[in-house]
Formats: sequence, C-alpha cells, structure tokens
Amino acid sequence: MAEQKRDYYEVLGVSKDATEDDLKKAYRTLAKKYHPDMNPGDEAAAEKFKEASEAYAVLSDADKRRQYDQFGHAAFDGAGGFGAGGFDMGSMDFEDLFGGIFGDFFGGARRGGTRNGPAKGANVRTSVRITFLEAVFGCEKELELTLKDPCGTCNGTGAKPGTTPQMCAKCGGKGQVVFTQQSFFGTVRNVQTCPDCSGTGKVIKDKCVDCHGTGYISSRKHIKVTIPAGIDSGQSVRIREKGEPGSGGGPRGDLLVEVLVSGHPIFQRQDYDIYSTVPMSYAIAALGGSVVIDTVDGKVIYDVKPGTQTDTRVRLRGKGVPTLRDKDVRGDHYVTLVVQVPEKLSKEAKDLLKAFDEKTGDSLGAADRASSQDKGGDNPEGGGKKKGSGFFGKKK
Ligand SMILES: [Zn+2]
Ligand SMILES: [Zn+2]
Repeated sequence: MAEQKRDYYEVLGVSKDATEDDLKKAYRTLAKKYHPDMNPGDEAAAEKFKEASEAYAVLSDADKRRQYDQFGHAAFDGAGGFGAGGFDMGSMDFEDLFGGIFGDFFGGARRGGTRNGPAKGANVRTSVRITFLEAVFGCEKELELTLKDPCGTCNGTGAKPGTTPQMCAKCGGKGQVVFTQQSFFGTVRNVQTCPDCSGTGKVIKDKCVDCHGTGYISSRKHIKVTIPAGIDSGQSVRIREKGEPGSGGGPRGDLLVEVLVSGHPIFQRQDYDIYSTVPMSYAIAALGGSVVIDTVDGKVIYDVKPGTQTDTRVRLRGKGVPTLRDKDVRGDHYVTLVVQVPEKLSKEAKDLLKAFDEKTGDSLGAADRASSQDKGGDNPEGGGKKKGSGFFGKKK
C-alpha cells in the first residue's frame, strides 16, 4: 500500500508541458505494450499497464491535472480526510478511458462480470446541485435514486424458487468465449463475453417471476452524501459500494456524485478565490471612510483610504474558499471598490455639488466642459438662462 508512486509525467515519459495529444500518444504506446490481453499472466506488465492508465486518467483531465501539478499524488490520496464518502480521485474508470482511446477494440473482455469469480458491481453516476455557499462550507445532501438489489425471492439467481440455473452449453459455464482476431496489434487472442449467457455461465429455464430472471430488483433509495468544503462545480464525490450489486459475492460498485454549483448574486469564484464588487460613494472615495463588504463569513467593515480611485481592488486574506486538502487553509477574497455616481439628487445636493465643482473645477479641467455644456443646452435646469448660477458660472 505504501509503495512509492512514480511521477505521472515520468510514467508516461512526457514533459510537464505535454499537450493532450502528446499524452494520448504516449499512453497509447504504453497501453499497447502492456495491455493484459497482450501479456497474459504477466504481473509486471499488468502493473505497468495500471500505472500508465492511472497517470493518463489524471493528466488527461484538465482539472485533475491542475490538482496534480499543484499537490502531486497527495491531491488524490484518500487519506486527506474527506470523510467516509471519500473524495473521488477521478470518477476514474479505465473502461471509459479505453472507450475514448481504443473504441470497441477490446470488446467486452474487460467488462465486469464476465468472469465467474466475484466481480465488483458497476459504478453508478448521478449528480447533485448545491448552492455557492454550500460548496464553500461543505454540506450534507440526501440523494434519491433507483438502485438494484439482489432479488430476495430467488436469492439473486434469477431462477424460479425450487429450480436452479443450468450451466451454459456454449461456454461451458465460463461465461467467456475465446477467438482470435487480426488487428493493428497483430494477431490477438481475444476473450469475449459469451453471447448465450451474457457472461453469467448459466442459463435460466424457469425464470423467477419477481425479477423476471434478472436476479435483481430495483427500488428507490435515499442516500446521504457528505460534500466536502471547497468542492467546485464539476468535481465528484465517490461513495463506496453504493452502486450496482456485484456478482458472485463481489462488492457493490461505487456511487459517483457529480457536484453542480449554482451561481451567487454577489460572489464569483475562481479556484479558491472569491471576487465581488462593492459600491462606495464619491465622498468616501475622496475623503476616506468605511464601506461594508459582504463576505462568505458575513459582513466586514473596510476602511477606505482618502483619495481611493474607482476600480481599486482590495484583498481580504483568507476570506476565500476553504481548500479541499485542508479546510483551514483558504483562498482570498478580492473586492473591487467602485465609485457610485448618483442618478437622482435633491435640489440641495445638486447645489452643493455645483459649488463643489466650482471650487475644484480647475483641477478637473472643468473650463472646457463648461463651455461645451453651454452650447449643448441639455442642462435639465434650463442651461443658458441660468448662467452665472455657479455650476456654469465661468463667464466667457
Ligand atoms: Zn428473482
Ligand atoms: Zn455461456
């Protein structure tokens, strides 16, 4: 268990900045060389194959690659304390990978349940939508989904009580048939699921009426999922052995819950940092003062320095999203302070602003503005008639 893991890039023999294509090529080459079907009974090859597959599964997924680049193997090591559910190291399903890379070449040979011994059940995928804040702080959700259980009437055999399934004549009960095939790998001895018994090795003459011979009964189930603080949209949580039942005494597959995070009206998220915009009045920007900033921890009073420009960005350290590795380590919250220009002003406020503008006008280049405004005549108070009333007071 505690063996030293090799660097994924090293495993694939590519550089850190390898492109998706580079990865795919490297993986294809290794997979061809070490695939168990090419190396029957060769444990070392099987290990190499597994290692390469794992490396490719992680590096070919942009999110996982980023996590790996940042944290190394620790990013996916279940010991990180993600609770009983465990953090899904990848919804990592080798079959999916092959599907993508080799198409149907390997056929059904890899599919679970084709062998007669205990086989793990299939993984089940589902998704759950949570709010922005639930993602930040973690939450518990109850999922409702339809799952199979072994049929109680026939004990999962699929045969009517009192009868037993017969051994399949075609495969002799092995569940697999072997054939050879020419391909770009050369001649391949291929093993395929027996078409007569679908890999079970058994044929049922009298079917159980409750499960119609499938051996399984489906029912709605409620399953609790613990979603760790810091999870981001698109990441998955793995709940062990809550998937499809296994066969031949094998364990159930896993339940993979993809988490979808809804947007927030105020906060935006980028990795573990949060971004928001907070308005401040012109007076506060000019004179300094306090603004109230909403953070995921509640309101924070921030002292704005005199002479703060609009779009100034301030950083609230540690007010971002907790990291998945350690919820006490958090990102930052970046706030953009934006000067609000009032749209409605009382007569008194307008007069004060005009007086203010007159006082400070020269430094703001108001002389030019005043002359163009005079001609424009779009002043709501009647423009031209009021010359000399202060705001447009500069005589030509
Ligand atoms: Zn049954
Ligand atoms: Zn068969």
